[in-house]
Amino acid sequence: MTDFAATKALFHLPPGVIYLDGNSLGPLPLSAPARMAQVMTDEWGEMLITGWNRGGSDGAGWMAQPTLLGDRVGRLIGAEPSHVVLGDTLSIKVYQALAAALEMTERKVVLSDNGNFPSDLYMAEGLVRSLRQGHELRIVAPEEVEASLTPEIGVLMITEVDYRTGRMHDMVRLTERAHSLGILTIWDLAHSAGAVPVDLARARADFAVGCTYKYLNGGPGAPAFIYVAPRHANRVRPALSGWLGHESPFAFDIDYRPGAGIERMRVGTPPVLALAALEASLDIWDMTTMAEVRARSQELTGRFIAGVEAACPTLTLASPRDPDLRGSQVSFRHAQGYAIMQALIARGVIGDFRAPDILRFGFTPLYIDQGDVDGAVAVLAEVMDGALWDRDEYRTRSRVT
Ligand SMILES: *Cc1c(COP(=O)(O)O)cnc(C)c1O
Repeated sequence: MTDFAATKALFHLPPGVIYLDGNSLGPLPLSAPARMAQVMTDEWGEMLITGWNRGGSDGAGWMAQPTLLGDRVGRLIGAEPSHVVLGDTLSIKVYQALAAALEMTERKVVLSDNGNFPSDLYMAEGLVRSLRQGHELRIVAPEEVEASLTPEIGVLMITEVDYRTGRMHDMVRLTERAHSLGILTIWDLAHSAGAVPVDLARARADFAVGCTYKYLNGGPGAPAFIYVAPRHANRVRPALSGWLGHESPFAFDIDYRPGAGIERMRVGTPPVLALAALEASLDIWDMTTMAEVRARSQELTGRFIAGVEAACPTLTLASPRDPDLRGSQVSFRHAQGYAIMQALIARGVIGDFRAPDILRFGFTPLYIDQGDVDGAVAVLAEVMDGALWDRDEYRTRSRVT
């Protein structure tokens, strides 16, 4: 049994704040600053360039960290060992996965949905344009995805948990259906990794990508991850064929030869300092299982929905009511959503706003408990009852919402 009070005590949570935005940026693990300082002083400082072979808390070398930590992320998403690697940002990993998948099929159509995060769609658009081979990015409504799987589709590229509403696609069913029609699948796990149990191996997903700064608490700009199924890992041809994905980077050959398995999905020099911060968070993740996190998350999101619906009748639930169909977040709609969220933040309840009218709250059992849920409901009720959001200062939009 996970002791969630113990995991909560391992994060820095500023006093007076109820942090319901770990779905956007996880909080700081208390051990991360010391771990990063150690990498800077003892490793970067003392080892200098020899750190590539000797650095890392395990002494395995900085160069080994993207796959060693990749396996620790892999445990949380049901990946086979040695099939996840960290690096770059999620947008880059989306491009990399899609480019690899398109080389594996003769078909020209990529299917996605309009609930997908825009960056995934933008990256696909750019790739399709620069390929100049007549590819098409087809975007349908989320509920039309299954019916839109036809033999002309080459790749289904989709995000499991909708970033706005938390609605979930059925990964197992859609992957099975896609495969029965000869379609490859790319699953974006940005709002799944650390939020809901994922079993990539069982689902037989072809590719998966995700980020580590949301539910995984790796820190702002923490490296993304990519998974390639074992049956494809030695067949895919990386489009972003950087030197660290080469079979032998230090041979400095003129010709590119892809590295073994997932190693070929590396591009350039790994972000060693950022990996150290992520490692501090993965130590906390080692204290729990996704099944326990999921059970607790469903309890927290259910409690929040019940509390808000009882106290704030003008807010409309935008997330699925069935806990098995929603991720680890709850969203409500209101025309004044932006101002309401600013009023909440001013009172220490931090969620976020997604245009046009979504108030979004993330529930992260590692450090959010029932007391936090009740506290957040009470503040939201106060803001709605007294129309405390109705002030000019709460209407001015910041660059990041
Ligand atoms: C958060 C998120 C991203 C962000 O991509 P970055 O390159 O890390 O900025 C991309 N796709 C999805 C589905 C996301 O939720």
